[in-house]
Amino acid sequence: MKVVRSLEGIQKTGDRVRGLVPTMGAFHEGHLSLMRKARTECDEVVVSLFVNPLQFGPTEDLSRYPRQEERDSEMAESAGVDLLFIPAAEEIIRSTRANVTLKGLSDHYEGAHRPGHFDGVATIVAKLFHIISPDVAYFGLKDRQQCAVIQAMTEDLNFPLKLSFQPTIRDRDGLALSSRNVYLSPEERRMAPSLYSTMRATAERIAKGASVLPCLVDAREQLSEEGFAVDYFDLIDPRTFEAAEKASLETVIVAAAKLGKTRLIDNIDAPFRG
Ligand code: AMP
Repeated sequence: MKVVRSLEGIQKTGDRVRGLVPTMGAFHEGHLSLMRKARTECDEVVVSLFVNPLQFGPTEDLSRYPRQEERDSEMAESAGVDLLFIPAAEEIIRSTRANVTLKGLSDHYEGAHRPGHFDGVATIVAKLFHIISPDVAYFGLKDRQQCAVIQAMTEDLNFPLKLSFQPTIRDRDGLALSSRNVYLSPEERRMAPSLYSTMRATAERIAKGASVLPCLVDAREQLSEEGFAVDYFDLIDPRTFEAAEKASLETVIVAAAKLGKTRLIDNIDAPFRG
């Protein structure tokens, strides 16, 4: 595996099918699953490791975000990655004049709780697409709204590439893997899987035809009683991220909640087949 730090060094040459996995590092099985998927489908696998300052709010965890370049490099190599791209911030962000905003989609749920977050994500992903020219780009459904934002951006700005969204990898107790899980205290780590089990139980009730709103209210109450500070727990249409009053074949439960200082986000399909 080659580690590349310059923009020139990462330009695409030749016509081998190039897969890109954009990341912020601190790798876990979720990242590795994307890399392995890319490995099975592409001739050349590029992983970008860039802790994107534009996607962090002023009170968020940019300075303490976990950084472990050496370990990441070994993990990426073991997943069969060809090129690990670790650019300097000044190379990627030369000025902040140009910005990618996805009207509507970026404003609710994660966007409402993290103003500017999705502009930061979309702007940097657009730059990575230009710099790296992937044929396929891989993202995790763990960050479901991010997938919707990237899909809208790719369609609306005519990026000539395919997107591949991959399932959420979880710990044995159901907690979705996240680089931020290291912030959880042992006590919080014990409580954390309840977010997923509550989403599952709610999805089951909805699948059986229960009215959506009372199910959501129950879930929020239960999590609050357990000690979560719930930002949202809702049923949505995954393309628009508008709240859905009724479940359909496509609907998804999205949730974000804080345990102490750590914010967890997760989602689960919650279809009603009628
Ligand atoms: P991050 O480094 O957190 O920006 O994540 C890089 C990519 O890995 C994004 O596409 C995430 O959605 C994806 N990802 C993060 N956690 C998981 C997970 N538990 N399962 C699958 N994909 C994930």
